Amino acid sequence: KPYLLQIFEDISARKAMEAELIRAKESADEANRAKSEFLAVMSHEIRTPLSVVIASIDHLLHTTEDSEQKAILELADSSADSLHSLIEDILDFSRIEARRVEIRRDAFDLRGCIEKIIEMFRMQAQGKGLRLRYTIDPQVPATIHGDPDRLTQVLINLVGNAMKFTHQGEVAIRVGVRPDSLILSVRDTGIGIAEDKRDRLFQSFSQVDSSLTRKYGGTGLGLAISKALVDLMGGTIWVESAPGKGSVFSFTLPAWSQQPEDSREARAAA
Ligand code: ADP
Repeated sequence: KPYLLQIFEDISARKAMEAELIRAKESADEANRAKSEFLAVMSHEIRTPLSVVIASIDHLLHTTEDSEQKAILELADSSADSLHSLIEDILDFSRIEARRVEIRRDAFDLRGCIEKIIEMFRMQAQGKGLRLRYTIDPQVPATIHGDPDRLTQVLINLVGNAMKFTHQGEVAIRVGVRPDSLILSVRDTGIGIAEDKRDRLFQSFSQVDSSLTRKYGGTGLGLAISKALVDLMGGTIWVESAPGKGSVFSFTLPAWSQQPEDSREARAAA
């Protein structure tokens, strides 16, 4: 075949392949949008009747004196709660995918935020006989700038997982400083995660044990949501783990989370 003709054929073949890839990507994006839309609509529709169910159970729980009825209602209550957090996770995830999440930048007290989270998990830790503690590097400013609700959401996911997958020892939150960011980590002495499972953990619906007979509940959305939120806050999240010994999930919050330059200068001038 003449050389030029060969080149021409190669270029046309490559062009056709590129067009094919673009079409495939567009239809994958479209399918993804449809999936998110479906999840968002379904979750929203389930949320309203579910809140009526939860309120009704709560009402009965507080009025019945019968201990057998109380036990049944408590079971219904905890199942309804699990369903509720699943729905909230799906709604959150679809909001993030549709880029409908805004990250605020408020001044807030990080220590107070962490103490609240510790308080939230105190009973559960006591029940499981786990130590739950936190340390904050003294260099961390008393007030930082960022989104306290989103930060709390990420920490609740990480501490919740640490509590779930740890059966003895402790769960510890640590806040440290790096030259241009804060670093937050949640360390546990739990079951750990095999190396070949670690990179997929942050993808949606990914669980190390996805068998139907799996021991731990959950949706596999918590870490995907946490990663998306940390990304939106401008940080990165990662995991280190030793199977059978424990895991450390860490994430950074970039410099804007600390005192902005101008207020530091203002303080120096005052
Ligand atoms: P969920 O906990 O709802 O299944 P996540 O996205 O929060 O979803 O976590 C995904 C998976 O990562 C979990 O199912 C579990 O297999 C693994 N995992 C997360 N955190 C830990 C941890 N601290 N120790 C051991 N495994 C963990």
